[in-house]
Amino acid sequence: MAILPIIKIGHPTLRKTAKKVQKFDKELEKFVGDLTETMRFNEGIGLAATQVEVEKQVFVIDKGLINEEWELQAYINPIIIESEGMENVEEGCLSIPGVRADVERPFQIRVRYQDIKGKVIDETLEGLLARVFQHEYDHLNGVLFVDRIPQLTRKLLEPQLKEIEGEYTYR
Ligand SMILES: [Zn+2]
Repeated sequence: MAILPIIKIGHPTLRKTAKKVQKFDKELEKFVGDLTETMRFNEGIGLAATQVEVEKQVFVIDKGLINEEWELQAYINPIIIESEGMENVEEGCLSIPGVRADVERPFQIRVRYQDIKGKVIDETLEGLLARVFQHEYDHLNGVLFVDRIPQLTRKLLEPQLKEIEGEYTYR
């Protein structure tokens, strides 16, 4: 397994739409292993493929950090079928280090995804797990949590975001 470099806001790949996974093979298993190791190394609760410059519909969530009886999980080709309720909770992101802000999102979602073997799973998620799922799902569609905050808050964060984005402007 390997720890992969995480790209930051300002990198064009974070704005790309990830492609559906077609092959559930050894290569996918290895990638999920690397993604997991990268998430743990960086002490994240979730990590999406696009954050390591891989345009595939894959993300991992360390569910054990939410409920110790749960295990880590990979979500492949995820979709959100239904959502309910709204809640404002603070979020952060490994691609936007040091920045945190309240984001309004549905509290409960019904989702469909495939596991590492390609099995289709239907589930209803709520609370923190639903939130992390939506945050990572956004990554696969080129959306970052700072796109979902009120304009005024975004304005206040702009200098911090510009500083992180600055890493890429001279490339
Ligand atoms: Zn993120």
